[in-house]
Amino acid sequence: AAKAAGKSAYRTCTPALRESAVSRAELIADLRRAVDERQLHLEYQPIVDLATGAVRSAEALVRWRHPRLGLLAPAAFLPLAEETGLIVPIDRWVIHEACRAAATWRARVPEATVAVNIAAAHLRRPDLIATVTAATASAGLAPRALTLELTESALIDGSEAVLERLAQLRELGIRIAIDDFGTGYSSLSYLHRIPATELKIDRSFVARLDTDARAYATVEMVTRLAGAFDLAVVAEGVETEGQHAAVTAIGCVHGQGYRYGRPGGLSALHALAAPR
Ligand code: C2E
Ligand code: MG
Ligand code: MG
Ligand code: MG
Repeated sequence: AAKAAGKSAYRTCTPALRESAVSRAELIADLRRAVDERQLHLEYQPIVDLATGAVRSAEALVRWRHPRLGLLAPAAFLPLAEETGLIVPIDRWVIHEACRAAATWRARVPEATVAVNIAAAHLRRPDLIATVTAATASAGLAPRALTLELTESALIDGSEAVLERLAQLRELGIRIAIDDFGTGYSSLSYLHRIPATELKIDRSFVARLDTDARAYATVEMVTRLAGAFDLAVVAEGVETEGQHAAVTAIGCVHGQGYRYGRPGGLSALHALAAPR
């Protein structure tokens, strides 16, 4: 299964772990140590402005360099982290690390923003606000330079407490993106209630743009909807020239995907986003 992951040499699927000599219990114990032993790192994937090609934002994506299994992608360990609650210290570390990275990037590109993914379990915790505030303050980062990406499934159990928390984050200036938009149970009433600043169109729609008229219509409709709600829109998973042409023609403002750049180190991001 690791081979199927191809040139990236990442292990992404749970079967790879199941076949491996590491048991679930060991993996949990390993994961418990991963943050303290500095085995996690972030990669940054550029988000481009489709009109100009400029890169002014990036998404931080966590990776785990496991001492015996090698480099693991989020799909290989985040489900376990969510089951065990270890996702909270992991996401907390991610937020701090991404804020530090954003601050160094903004020293070169003043309007740059960095996005982090927030697990549903973390969103339900009142201390999310304290974590975000501490991370931006200690990095000396303007809150408007940080975007929290939340999936529809994380938002759907949207209790009043979660909505209130999101409103407080918005008041602080933090940006809120709805990730993988279109794959959950989104409804229009829900879009009215979530104080989002952007929508990220799930890559399953983008992948079918060239061949499926309904996928095209979906991307078109979500882009219009985002415009009407005054939300920024990002097309995720743009891989081909055809998909790039389509999302540009539809009027998506931002694109993310292998067509523009794979997740990579901070120095690659700096090079890519260097002001021309
Ligand atoms: P996501 O937030 O939707 O992130 C985008 C995923 O799509 C990333 O996978 C990225 O590498 C991949 N991707 C980007 N462009 C393309 C493309 O053109 N084609 C294809 N096929 N894939 C593309 P990755 O890094 O494996 O992350 C998977 C998911 O894991 C993320 O989906 C996010 O939900 C979650 N995740 C990643 N980092 C974190 C984190 O720090 N905390 C939490 N809670 N979740 C995370
Ligand atoms: Mg995301
Ligand atoms: Mg996504
Ligand atoms: Mg996704």
